[in-house]
Amino acid sequence: MQKLEMIYEGKAKRVYVTEDPALLIVDYKDDATAFNGEKKGTIVGKGIINNQMSNRLMQRLERAGVPTHFVQELSERETLVKRVQIVPLEVIVRNTAAGSFSKRYGVEEGLVFDEPTIEFSYKNDALGDPLINTTHIAAIHLATPEELDAIRRYALRANEVLRAFWASCGITLVDFKLEFGRLSDGTIILADEISPDTCRLWDSKTGEKLDKDRFRRDLGGVEDAYAEVMRRLREHDE
Ligand code: UDP
Repeated sequence: MQKLEMIYEGKAKRVYVTEDPALLIVDYKDDATAFNGEKKGTIVGKGIINNQMSNRLMQRLERAGVPTHFVQELSERETLVKRVQIVPLEVIVRNTAAGSFSKRYGVEEGLVFDEPTIEFSYKNDALGDPLINTTHIAAIHLATPEELDAIRRYALRANEVLRAFWASCGITLVDFKLEFGRLSDGTIILADEISPDTCRLWDSKTGEKLDKDRFRRDLGGVEDAYAEVMRRLREHDE
């Protein structure tokens, strides 16, 4: 399958059409942004790691009953995926307080929840991706109640699977962001990526941050952290 016209260029990926109208090719870049694009940089090798990590995790989720857009890894940075219409929601699942949750509610980072939480943001750069509740989602027709049910179920199932897997790697899954899409027949599937760009991953023993917070917060060792997470994933992903 060949890349044809580029139809989208985002912060971390380029997306191309193929001869098959139902399939796209995603090409992962090393570019990193944070704070709604205010901070920009490069994380050398990130595109390769995010591509390979996302693909392995999506295949794991497929096996556990979460349908995904993954079709085939084509190269170090390129993957063939099912074409979807993205539901404009960031679906955030949290096991431990961190980031915007800690800021919003004034709770320390690291507070472990009894049960995971789920929240939605409206994906809209101009508005700064505002938090949105389910009645608001219905009111402005971002997703139907049935679609939201599926999204919630898949997101919480993904959390169970990913949390257990990262735990086996000695990594605590603090929180993560998912995006879902609709196939042409309306079926909801998981899309976008699952990587250290979109998850908070802390070393279970030392608490060391092994994710994009190293970039966001200028902690240094960004490339090493991504490589370490990938190394552990390879070691434990049979
Ligand atoms: N996240 C993301 N993209 C976004 C916002 C958040 O991938 O545009 C991820 C982030 O990496 C973290 C989780 O979602 O794993 C929760 O992020 P939070 O709401 O705490 O926002 P942040 O503190 O990153 O602004």
